[in-house]
Amino acid sequence: SAKSGGRGAFRFFEPELDELMHARRNLERDMRAALAGRQFELHYQPFVGAATGKTYGFEALLRWHHPQRGMVLPGEFIPLAEETGLIVPLGEWVLRTACAEAATWPAHVRIAINLSPAQFRSKELVPVIVGALASSGLAPHRLELEVTETVIMHDSEAVFAVLAELRELGVRIALDDFGTGYSSLSFLQRFPFDKVKIDRSFVNELSSPRAEARHLARAVVRFAVSLGKTTTAEGVETKEQLDILREEGCGETQGYYFSRPMPASDIARMLRRGSGAAIRAA
Ligand code: C2E
Ligand code: MG
Ligand code: MG
Ligand code: MG
Repeated sequence: SAKSGGRGAFRFFEPELDELMHARRNLERDMRAALAGRQFELHYQPFVGAATGKTYGFEALLRWHHPQRGMVLPGEFIPLAEETGLIVPLGEWVLRTACAEAATWPAHVRIAINLSPAQFRSKELVPVIVGALASSGLAPHRLELEVTETVIMHDSEAVFAVLAELRELGVRIALDDFGTGYSSLSFLQRFPFDKVKIDRSFVNELSSPRAEARHLARAVVRFAVSLGKTTTAEGVETKEQLDILREEGCGETQGYYFSRPMPASDIARMLRRGSGAAIRAA
């Protein structure tokens, strides 16, 4: 009829767009199945004292073992999980699984877990964390929650209140990917976090042949250190980067130089060999 066929303006499904939406729907469907079918796994990457070489803890990083596509990294599915709200049940699974795993580690070893803005909007975040701590028996001070600036930028009053509540529990808060966002300096000082994670892009530039890039990277590291919080440098891949970070007073480092993220069984074996020992001679 004229109504259904004649209105060109309502041809939503251009071929490419149709394909794109089809791919998204498939991904969403697969993610729901994955959560039920135990296809998600956490890998753990150590963070290591820059001067001591000791392992202080591990960051949990999501991996998806897709039945057809093999291992899928979070960059490919976290954005859609956030859009669809699936990040809320998925994030709860991450919190419970990581806390339970960390509770089997030596008592000085911490666990860091990434949180999405959508989890803050869900209103269930605090009870879920309290539940994960209670059921695992993990001491709250061993849990670090990593948030990016995007979490803080949206509805900062409400987020502020949630973070304050979490800190009252004894949980530590880390600002992830520091230096990449838009926060004003005073905003950063006001915010109640315990740790700053210097983004990998700056760590990369520490050994850049371009003087300007190197100076900017050093300035970001110095500013993070000067905030007086614990600092962790992400994405350390070379000894040169590590040496500069130590000289600049950065406390902790994390990256392929020490270790890639590893399955829980490898971490358990490593910790049995010698808890707190150097992963790699610095
Ligand atoms: P992030 O929290 O900033 O994590 C650091 C990323 O850098 C990880 O990528 C890690 O594998 C990678 N990385 C570590 N060391 C090096 C290095 O030396 N060189 C290079 N090139 N990369 C390194 P991954 O595992 O792909 O995770 C990407 C992002 O996905 C994370 O960034 C985080 O924002 C998000 N993510 C991961 N797991 C979760 C989760 O459980 N929940 C939520 N909400 N987000 C997660
Ligand atoms: Mg992180
Ligand atoms: Mg990061
Ligand atoms: Mg990141």
